[in-house]
Amino acid sequence: MTELRSIPFSPPDISDEEINEVVDTLKSGWITTGPKTKLFEKQIAEYCNTSKAVALNSATAAMEMTLRLLGIGPGDEVITCAYTYSASASVITHVGAKVVLVDSGKDSFHIDYDGIADAITEKTKAIIPVDIAGVMCDYDRIFEAVESKKQLFNPSNDLQKAFGRVAVIADAAHSIGATYKGKMSGEVADFTSFSFHAVKNLTTAEGGMVTWRDIDGFDNEEIYKQYMLLSLHGQSKDALTKTKLGAWEYDIVAPNYKCNMTDIMASLGLAQFKRYPEILGRRKEIIEKYDALLSQLEVTSMKHYDETYQSCGHLYLLRLNGEDEAFRNDVITKMAEKGVSSNVHYKPLPMHSAYKNLGFKMEDYPNAFDMYKNEITLPLHTLLTDEDIEYVVESLRDIYKD
Ligand SMILES: *Cc1c(COP(=O)(O)O)cnc(C)c1O
Repeated sequence: MTELRSIPFSPPDISDEEINEVVDTLKSGWITTGPKTKLFEKQIAEYCNTSKAVALNSATAAMEMTLRLLGIGPGDEVITCAYTYSASASVITHVGAKVVLVDSGKDSFHIDYDGIADAITEKTKAIIPVDIAGVMCDYDRIFEAVESKKQLFNPSNDLQKAFGRVAVIADAAHSIGATYKGKMSGEVADFTSFSFHAVKNLTTAEGGMVTWRDIDGFDNEEIYKQYMLLSLHGQSKDALTKTKLGAWEYDIVAPNYKCNMTDIMASLGLAQFKRYPEILGRRKEIIEKYDALLSQLEVTSMKHYDETYQSCGHLYLLRLNGEDEAFRNDVITKMAEKGVSSNVHYKPLPMHSAYKNLGFKMEDYPNAFDMYKNEITLPLHTLLTDEDIEYVVESLRDIYKD
C-alpha cells in the first residue's frame, strides 16, 4: 500500500475569486440583503430558465416558506420519501401539517413512483420528492401520479386552486445544474428548493434559493413579494429601501419569519456560480474515474448520466453488493483508518428518534432499508486529485481483500 493520505469528505472549494468578492461586499458598506443578493437571484433564475428566484438562508427555509406560501398547515398532509435528510420532512411539521412517508423504489435511491398515488388522500396538498446525489427524479411519473388523483384534491385558497392538484415541491438541495429530459433543475417541478450549505456543490456557507414555474393567473412579482414578506418579518419595505433618505416608515403586514440571505453569502454564491461550469465538469470527470476503477469490485454505483438525465454529480453513492449494515459500518471504519472519510446517505427517517416518535416504523419501508444497509458514500469534491481517487478505490479494494 502507498503512503497514507488524508482525504476529507467534502471540504468547500474556495478560491481567491470568492475571497475577493466577499471582501468587496465587506468594504461596500452594505452586508445584508441588497444588490448582490438580487444579482445572485437574477443569475440563478436565468440559469434555471425561470422568471424569478428567491434567495433565502437555507433550502429548509425555501421549502418551509413555499409550504406557507401555498397556505399549507394543520389538517393537511404532505408526502415525502423515507430515504432523505430530515429537512425534507421536518418542514412539513414546522407548518403543522402531517408527514406522509413513501418508501424508495426497489433498488432505487429515489421515491417509489408507484407508491405516490396510493399515498394521496383528500387531505394531501403537496409532495416533496428528493433529487438525491444530484440525479433528478422522474418528474413525468410524479406529475402523472398527482394528476391521477386530481379528483381527490380539496383546494383551500386561490393558489392551491390554480394548481388543481397536489403541488410538486422539489427538494433540489443536491441538484442545482442537473437536467431532466433537457430541462434544468428549477424549471421542472412546480417549486424547486436549492441548498448552498457548506457541503453542497455550490456554496454560500449557509443558503438556499427557490424557483418556480409560472402559475396561471398569478403575477410572478406578486409571488416574489409574498416570499419577501414571509422571509423578512412581514415588513413592507426591505432594509435597503428603508435606508433610503427619509424613507423610514414601514408597515408590518403579518408577524412573519426571518430567513433572508445576506450580501456576504450572495457574494460567495456569485463567485461560485461563475466557476460552476468548471466545477460541474470536474465532478463529472471524478465520477467517470470512480465508475471505471470500481467496475472490478463487487459494488454497484448510482448512475449519474443517462439519455434522459444528467446529474450535477453531488454525491457518489455506492452499494456493497449483498452486504449488510455490519459489513458496511466496518468498511467505513477501515476506510477511516486509511485516512479516507466516507459517509452514509441516508439513514432512513423512520430509523431516527424524531420520526419513530411520530409513529413511523422502519419495517414499513423495506426498500429504503435495503438501500441504506449496504450504502457507502465516497468523497466527491473538486479538491480531489486523480491520485486521491485512485487511493480511495485502492483502499476499498484492500478492505475487500482482507
Ligand atoms: C442539505 C440538504 C437539505 C437542507 O439544506 P439546508 O440548506 O441546509 O437547509 C435538505 N434536503 C437534503 C436532501 C439535503 O441534503
